[in-house]
Amino acid sequence: MKLIRFGAPLKERPGLLLEDGTRVLASACCDDYTESFFESGGLERLREWADANAANAPRVDASERLGPPISRPSKIICVGLNFSDHAAETNATPPAEPILFFKATSAYCGPNDNLIIPRHSTKTDWEVELAVVIGKTARYVEESDALDYVAGYALHNDYSERAFQIERCGQWVKGKSCDSFAPLGPFLATPDEFEDVNNLRMWLKVNGETMQDGNTSNLIFKVPFLVSYISQFMTLLPGDVISTGTPAGVGMGMDPQRFLKAGDVVELGIEGLGDSRQEAVACA
Ligand code: ZN
Repeated sequence: MKLIRFGAPLKERPGLLLEDGTRVLASACCDDYTESFFESGGLERLREWADANAANAPRVDASERLGPPISRPSKIICVGLNFSDHAAETNATPPAEPILFFKATSAYCGPNDNLIIPRHSTKTDWEVELAVVIGKTARYVEESDALDYVAGYALHNDYSERAFQIERCGQWVKGKSCDSFAPLGPFLATPDEFEDVNNLRMWLKVNGETMQDGNTSNLIFKVPFLVSYISQFMTLLPGDVISTGTPAGVGMGMDPQRFLKAGDVVELGIEGLGDSRQEAVACA
């Protein structure tokens, strides 16, 4: 199943993207894709409902804005330096354990919403990433059980302001949390949609020029390990997002370095997870 949400920001309604590409409204099944939706077995209810009703459900017009595919999560947890080629381009040693950092949930937005270049930003950068969405409460989960806690996967752009992140002291969170820095989607794909999430091509272009061209097969720490590992330090709630890290090709790693400015267009995708597009605009 491919879950979508559409409508005005913070007023999105739930829907499904069907195999033939049509979008249908799922409000007859549930109010929204929230923590309580996942916790209460909503995905199973949605699947039963879809099998019986999706073909005849109200269609959603293609012009409707797509929101992020689940409602705002309690946490967005990101994994740093999880591709060895990206670690190398930033002159970092691949870590012995996953590097974790948070992204403010207020950065969360729809897949094709504008990227707002923050005030005083000179180093806004891109990062195509595979995001994992948690499906049930996870604490002290064994790696062998970890995939039972995954609701699905989505495309994420972990936008990063490198000066705020690295040159302004303290944690990376400053450079990761600006408004619009977490576009998720176009959809949440349930795990049955994939043969192997550890072998998905991922790419990102700026103004049509390919910047990143990687594959999830090169993740240093894989999804089951990450879910288990993070659950040793915090309780993962249904709907929480784990962004698993980016491959080489970010602007910070280029020579000369390259960063985004108003008017630039960023397009990205992951095999099986669709694509998204953000146009950079100046902060009001
Ligand atoms: Zn990242």
